Amino acid sequence: MRCPRCGTENPERKIVCRRCGARLRPTAPASSPVTQETEAELMWRLRWDLLRVAATFALSAAVAVALGLFVLR
Ligand SMILES: [Zn+2]
Repeated sequence: MRCPRCGTENPERKIVCRRCGARLRPTAPASSPVTQETEAELMWRLRWDLLRVAATFALSAAVAVALGLFVLR
């Protein structure tokens, strides 16, 4: 397997280049999709959390504005 960075020919089973240390292939091809799926799930959860926080903030801001208007009148 030829290194994409320096072009050195490496044995097929090598994961990193013996000369420059560049990665020749993913370390664990079988577990890679699982990791990606977990990352996507994490991103979704993070987005939902952010949305929930934003919604809560907007709601409290609206309540504060309504209260302020009520008090000022
Ligand atoms: Zn290399």
